[in-house]
Amino acid sequence: MGILVEACGVCKSYKHGNLNTDVLRHVDMSVSAGEMVSIVGPSGSGKSTLLHCLAGLEVPDAGEIHLMGVDVVRARRGERAKVRARHVGFVFQRYNLMPSLSVGENVSLSARFAGCRVSGKDVCDLLERVGMGGKEHARPAELSGGEAQRVALARAIASCPDIVFADEPTGALDTANGNVVLDILRAMADGESRAVVMVTHDLEAAARADRVFVMRDGKIVHMMTRPASREILTAMETVGERDTDEGAMLR
Ligand code: ADP
Repeated sequence: MGILVEACGVCKSYKHGNLNTDVLRHVDMSVSAGEMVSIVGPSGSGKSTLLHCLAGLEVPDAGEIHLMGVDVVRARRGERAKVRARHVGFVFQRYNLMPSLSVGENVSLSARFAGCRVSGKDVCDLLERVGMGGKEHARPAELSGGEAQRVALARAIASCPDIVFADEPTGALDTANGNVVLDILRAMADGESRAVVMVTHDLEAAARADRVFVMRDGKIVHMMTRPASREILTAMETVGERDTDEGAMLR
């Protein structure tokens, strides 16, 4: 099926007062069907911003992004929303569940936006898969962070999206529940027609991916294929040291 999302020369900056901060600096990456990709790097290195741009949630200042064959940088807002609804599942770092809806309604609504019919049983089955069986009538405010995170995953996959973007999807979970989430994401990518892009601080989680991208200061500075978690740690440390050395040479 080929490449599902491709970014070329993506740049993004934010204005803080009079100061322009470059958050993404000429990022190139692509993700193919059948792949699970992790993005790691220090806090503030631009991982979430990149994920939002790849998913068509934010528009870069420069560069190209093709998501499911659509040029989401130049597309109108409505067209971008359509691509997202039809093809993308997003697990937000802060879950972004709708507080006025029940857990079940949160899950079914996103599928309906995507044009998928999901029955009450489908919703219950999805919640069961993420270890939240029987919670369909609960309100998001009644959930712990870990529970909300799992509902957010159920919502993201309810429409059987072609590509799931997940921002720290195991951040609020213990090891057992984290593994439930990672197994679901891994299984999606193993299906060969879909892909998963995950931002994570958890190097064990990152190591479940086929490829791992290391970001630093808004750039992808390293890419590894099927690394062990220890290799990811070494790469992050090496990249950090290299930057410090370069900084010292410049000074
Ligand atoms: P990471 O996910 O690696 O922690 P982020 O992409 O969240 O990094 O953020 C990178 C930088 O961009 C940070 O310095 C952050 O403060 C800044 N940033 C992110 N989003 C915004 C925004 N909407 N407005 C202004 N600055 C932002």
